[in-house]
Amino acid sequence: MSDCIFCKIANGEIPSTKVYEDDTVLAFKDLSPQAPVHVLLIPKQHIASCDDIAPDNSAVVAHIFEVAARLAKEFGLTNGYRIVNNCGEDGGQTVKHLHFHLMGGRAFGWPAG
Ligand code: AMP
Ligand code: ZN
Repeated sequence: MSDCIFCKIANGEIPSTKVYEDDTVLAFKDLSPQAPVHVLLIPKQHIASCDDIAPDNSAVVAHIFEVAARLAKEFGLTNGYRIVNNCGEDGGQTVKHLHFHLMGGRAFGWPAG
């Protein structure tokens, strides 16, 4: 998608602080961190939101969770962490390219905060 900022981050048009990359997944630091560790994990392929996960593109989601667990260990999040997906208007999604927030280094409230 030509006007998608996360596609542009994935193809290098927009810079990011990458913490992990492979053929299908990219992880980079959130510009506006809400926790001591706040990383975004995205599929390199454009998937607009959780709502658009389908049998032909869902494998990357499992892979993202594997990578997230690996990164959590690398960042020393031994006391736990949170993985968040905001989907659509009510979910508070601001960037329309599927992404998962990996956040840690502090305790979180529930359901928000
Ligand atoms: P969401 O509200 O779930 O759609 O999250 C979008 C996230 O993307 C927010 O936490 C933003 O801080 C983050 N963000 C937006 N633009 C960039 C960027 N260029 N580099 C890194 N993070 C970004
Ligand atoms: Zn995109």
